[in-house]
Amino acid sequence: MFNRPSIEEIQDATLAKPGSKIDLKEYPTHGKVFFADKAEAKRSLKEDALAIDELQERLYAEKSQSLLVVFQGIDTSGKDGTTKAVFSQTSPLGMRVHAFGKPSANELDRDYLWRIHRDMPRKGEITVFNRSHYEDVLVGRVRNLAPKDQIEERYEQINNFEKHLTQNGVTIIKLMLHISRETQGERLLERLEVPEKRWKFNPGDLEDRKLWDDYQDAYQLAVERCSTEYAPWYIVPSDSRARRKATAARLVRGALEKMDPKIPDPGYRPEQFDIG
Ligand code: AMP
Ligand code: MG
Repeated sequence: MFNRPSIEEIQDATLAKPGSKIDLKEYPTHGKVFFADKAEAKRSLKEDALAIDELQERLYAEKSQSLLVVFQGIDTSGKDGTTKAVFSQTSPLGMRVHAFGKPSANELDRDYLWRIHRDMPRKGEITVFNRSHYEDVLVGRVRNLAPKDQIEERYEQINNFEKHLTQNGVTIIKLMLHISRETQGERLLERLEVPEKRWKFNPGDLEDRKLWDDYQDAYQLAVERCSTEYAPWYIVPSDSRARRKATAARLVRGALEKMDPKIPDPGYRPEQFDIG
């Protein structure tokens, strides 16, 4: 028998319990408690990716609800790699991925949620956010990109915004990819050393690394204030690539299974037709 954690076990272990005080240090970054065996994590990912594809096809056929998956995490935490792995079997037809970088001048002329709302999934779709509106209480907070009192107001605004979305057919799950400072150091070094990875290196990442503790505090606060029953945060141990992908896939599959999309009744009986 394989020693694979159930979806419920993964949900329970990674959920930032709504309304509770969150201490990020209590959440492991290594993920060995879930998948002791790396090979088992890889098998689990493969099966979940296939199941996600099947569920997505039903979602697309049903066309009445949608799923938003938010990936947040510090530089090198694995947002790109997790997106690629979890959705490796999913038809691009029913999927969109949006990566949010520094807002453009046009975006800065609007409220910070404008560009986020614009990219919401349509009915029947899954949308992945690689970074999100949470940047506005993460980098926004750490780098003082807005006055303090305005940043403070954003947590409630975000909760209200997410409530509005979930009341209008969007299921939201939010995954924080949680790594240790040591792991980030190794991955940044790898980006410098491996020629194919160099394009990902950004000297600005080193400036952010100097603010490691401030970022951890900002993440902790965002997760604590914005993990809700309707849009929960999960803290995914992400030092190990294989375990991180497998854990994220379990969570995405769990969300889709709960949505339980159904192939719609076509409104006709096949016997009505004679193909000729
Ligand atoms: P990357 O994900 O490596 O392409 O980097 C994107 C960069 O854009 C990161 O440094 C983010 O912190 C930054 N970014 C994303 N959203 C915002 C935002 N709302 N305000 C300021 N910077 C942002
Ligand atoms: Mg980067």
